[in-house]
Amino acid sequence: MDKLKETLNVSKIREDFPILKRKVHGKDLVYLDNAATSQKPMQVIRSMNDYYAVYNANVHRAVHKLAEEATIGYEDSREKIAKFINASPKETIFVRNTTEGMNLAIFGYVKNKIKKGDTILLTEMEHHSNIVPWQKLAKDTGAKIEYIPITKEGILDMDFFEKKIKNAAVVSITHVSNVLGTINPVRKIISEAKRNDAITIVDAAQSVPHMPVDVKEIDCDFLAFSAHKMLGPTGIGVLYGRKELLEETDPIIIGSEMIKEVTFENSTWNDLPWKFDYGTANIAEAIGFGSAVDYLSSIGMHKIRQHEEELTNYALEKLKEIKDLTIYGPTDAKLKGGVISFNLGDVHSHDLASVLDQEGIAIRSGHHCAMPLMSKLGITNTSRASFYLYNTEEEIDMLVKALEKARSIFKLK
Ligand code: PMP
Repeated sequence: MDKLKETLNVSKIREDFPILKRKVHGKDLVYLDNAATSQKPMQVIRSMNDYYAVYNANVHRAVHKLAEEATIGYEDSREKIAKFINASPKETIFVRNTTEGMNLAIFGYVKNKIKKGDTILLTEMEHHSNIVPWQKLAKDTGAKIEYIPITKEGILDMDFFEKKIKNAAVVSITHVSNVLGTINPVRKIISEAKRNDAITIVDAAQSVPHMPVDVKEIDCDFLAFSAHKMLGPTGIGVLYGRKELLEETDPIIIGSEMIKEVTFENSTWNDLPWKFDYGTANIAEAIGFGSAVDYLSSIGMHKIRQHEEELTNYALEKLKEIKDLTIYGPTDAKLKGGVISFNLGDVHSHDLASVLDQEGIAIRSGHHCAMPLMSKLGITNTSRASFYLYNTEEEIDMLVKALEKARSIFKLK
């Protein structure tokens, strides 16, 4: 028995994902675009169907039975997700996705704290979701952004960080890069930031789905992630925030159910976490998110991380053997999540991805919403293979075989 199958019972897991039985262009689907979005197990799909088929009603409003069941389902999910990251339900705010979570922390909290001339410290490996809102905030307030550079190996230049942190008002960093796969030392960064009284925000879009994440251990002020990258549905995510800070955070969309009292003249906000539940919530999605967390917890996040590390290690070894293939980011699987970006000779990543698609292999191509990082790397795009709990060594072998085929199609010598 090979090592990967010992860590996780992948063939049993795959049974839960109907889409993995699909054929694409007559070939078995090999889904390696998990950093963009993950596939969904039947348990998650069923939980959302059940809500619509059995207890569909709005939450927090009516007193009838269906409304009570829907409210319980919705709030139970919040509790499960809170537990999953070691937070309390009051600190677990439902948002649409990581991008909305970052916006809420930035415009709801940081905006009230930051002053002209303050430094916002980001890194060169950020996703646009952790750059674009800061650029607007900087323009609006006169604060300035500095980027922690990356080294040749695709890791953060910690000497630069140590120097800059002394004057930073905010540090906002990705836990795991969606391009390089780099796992950043968030605990160390946050403890230094705290010593300097900086606000700390973590973009956990690529970490919470793939490894154990404990917000109390990381000790950050805010942390955002999306359900759709962790077996859950689209349209829902979470912003975790420390309770005292969320109390001070302004909701950025207001109206409907997020109030305590409204008069003709004035309104007061509801208590946490409902202060941020504007309008009718994504109820089915919240319920699906809760069952995704149940699914991941039943397998164990340590095991999922171990499986992905083994798979990444295997893939790196195999990919290194392919002529003309450049890999970006760390080449030691221990230092990275299950994300490998690469280019094959001077073939455009979209062309390469189209050839792989004909083989049934789904990878991502393009700039990965990290255009500043692309420019730092001196390129405009990469191909990216990203793994999850249901991927296998055999699928990596198929990727490698398809890349060899692409070499001959593109006439690389
Ligand atoms: N940050 C990172 C690191 C990501 O990988 C992504 C998704 N590609 C996001 C933020 C944005 O996530 P969402 O599209 O779910 O808002």
